[in-house]
Amino acid sequence: MGSLSLEHVRVSFGGLNALTDVSLTMGPAGILGLIGPNGAGKSTCINVMTGFQKASAGRVLLDGRAIGGPPAAFRHAGISRTFQAGRLFATLTVAENLAAAAIGMGLSRRAAATEADRVLDQTGIAQLAHEVAAVLPYTDQRRVAIARATVCQPKFLLLDEPAAGMSQQEAQGLADTIRTIRANEGPAVLLVEHQVGLVLSLCDEIAVLDRGRIIALDTPDAIARDEVVREAYLGT
Ligand code: ADP
Ligand code: MG
Repeated sequence: MGSLSLEHVRVSFGGLNALTDVSLTMGPAGILGLIGPNGAGKSTCINVMTGFQKASAGRVLLDGRAIGGPPAAFRHAGISRTFQAGRLFATLTVAENLAAAAIGMGLSRRAAATEADRVLDQTGIAQLAHEVAAVLPYTDQRRVAIARATVCQPKFLLLDEPAAGMSQQEAQGLADTIRTIRANEGPAVLLVEHQVGLVLSLCDEIAVLDRGRIIALDTPDAIARDEVVREAYLGT
């Protein structure tokens, strides 16, 4: 149960339309990929779907009903995200980073510690619990950032280029983390990612954004074969 949609959304920055009449639905289950060249509007889509950016026109629908307000309202409604360059609390341990997020969601310190333990187990990073965030390797920091976004069991998880700066092998490790989160009735996932291999292997469906418009929405196989997509995005 549950869907999160953009309905005819436009976002203008001055004279520039970052998004033009974008309609896109994630959920109730599965992983929806969102790909497209730099500047296509991918992050803007995530920003609108999580309350960080207001639409100039159109609406965001949660389970078919309009949702608005500040990012915290979206987060409390079960919509969570990571950032392209997400930062952890550097001097806190991984467990403390997770607990801090849970406290931010209104949990008591005690409930937050319990929730942190649950997330550590569920995302397969229990061995990192007592490491200080700042000294973790980059790939582990990215895994922790994703784990942190799953505190309090969101229904929708939007990931903005989680594998940026990773080798293909490191990205496969991250793919396992995302699969683990998805399993056992985890959140619906929207995955914005430049590593096309990762998107093709992880996603149930892929949308292609080009200059603020959705130009394709199909299965990974069909997207990989689509000539318009290859021209606009894959560069072949
Ligand atoms: P992507 O994530 O696909 O690389 P973005 O959504 O970040 O693309 O950006 C889409 C377009 O909107 C780009 O041309 C970008 O420069 C512009 N843009 C994004 N955010 C802002 C902003 N806050 N102010 C002005 N222009 C912006
Ligand atoms: Mg972006």
